[in-house]
Amino acid sequence: MKITEHIQNAKGTLLSYEILPPLKGKDIRSIYQHLDPLTEFKPSWINVTYHRTEAVFKKRTDGSIEKTKQRKRPGTVGICAALKNHYGIDTTPHIICGGFSQNDTEDALIDLNFLGIDNVLALRGDAAKSDGVFIPEPHGHRYALDLVKQVTNLNKGIYLEDEITDGIATNFCIGVAGYPEMHFEASNMESDLLHLKAKVDAGAEYIMTQMFFDNQKFFDFVKSCRDLDINVPIIPGLKALTRKKQLSVLPKIFNVEIPKALSEAVEQTANDADAEKIGTEWLIQQSKELREFGVPVLHYYTLGKPETIRNVVQEIF
Ligand SMILES: Cc1cc2nc3c(=O)[nH]c(=O)nc-3n(C[C@H](O)[C@H](O)[C@H](O)COP(=O)(O)OP(=O)(O)OC[C@H]3O[C@@H](n4cnc5c(N)ncnc54)[C@H](O)[C@@H]3O)c2cc1C
Repeated sequence: MKITEHIQNAKGTLLSYEILPPLKGKDIRSIYQHLDPLTEFKPSWINVTYHRTEAVFKKRTDGSIEKTKQRKRPGTVGICAALKNHYGIDTTPHIICGGFSQNDTEDALIDLNFLGIDNVLALRGDAAKSDGVFIPEPHGHRYALDLVKQVTNLNKGIYLEDEITDGIATNFCIGVAGYPEMHFEASNMESDLLHLKAKVDAGAEYIMTQMFFDNQKFFDFVKSCRDLDINVPIIPGLKALTRKKQLSVLPKIFNVEIPKALSEAVEQTANDADAEKIGTEWLIQQSKELREFGVPVLHYYTLGKPETIRNVVQEIF
């Protein structure tokens, strides 16, 4: 079922999760172990992130350096199909521009369609670590907008090859990312919002946000979107702060501010276990306030911390 159908049919606030594929070499059971404590709360769907290949430099026996590409966390499509089969829960694979030519994307979308997956979250993707800045793949997309356009075209039966004139139309529900505190590369909030609007105008049916720790930023973001006539559902992405180090790491990586009250409380803790208790309580309060505000869904980034998210979710659902 499509995310938009889940939202239309909902009688209250829905729940969804996001997971990462395991590191290469791990069993699918590691994913089930991660999700088992969380599925009893009846999530409407589970997102699975996508991870591009990264350059790896290896020293050969003759001393020369060999550059290869490795994907640390493969398996997004397989995991989506396995979860659907194992739990009977809908899944949303993330699809990215980075590392994909348009033909690679089309093939991936055909696979997803054959597997009966109805949703995709269309993203540009992070830059390769060795590049520093985002470099599109040859014949690939530079912006998530172009990826949204490609999926929208396939939803109309328009394939890359002109010769395919009677190709089946897919029926993907397309989501895109939004940034309550602005994407770090945007020159200002207004231009970032206009780029977001372009993605919605091109066919995205809902927005899923970057994590945030200050609900007011989300409320302001929703208002700015509505003022710009962006009228699709906006789903807050939520993460628990679980380590003291994250006070400095999260703002740098994700361009988010940690509210003073949270950072001061975490700074005063003796260790990460105490920091996690504060972070959990903060996320519970955040979730309650967002539910009162009327968000359609509470979407939790589980990121290797299923027990923490369980502690939050059991207070809300
Ligand atoms: C909910 C969520 C899930 C994510 N999952 C993944 C994942 O699974 N894998 C992964 O690699 N990354 C993931 N990311 C990270 C994401 O890929 C990065 O934040 C990336 O840097 C931007 O992706 P985007 O889709 O928002 O890009 P875009 O919408 O393309 O925007 C990127 C930047 O370009 C600007 N821009 C857009 N269009 C134009 C234009 N026409 N001209 C000039 N500037 C423009 C935007 O303002 C923004 O600053 C996720 C992020 C979120 C919020």
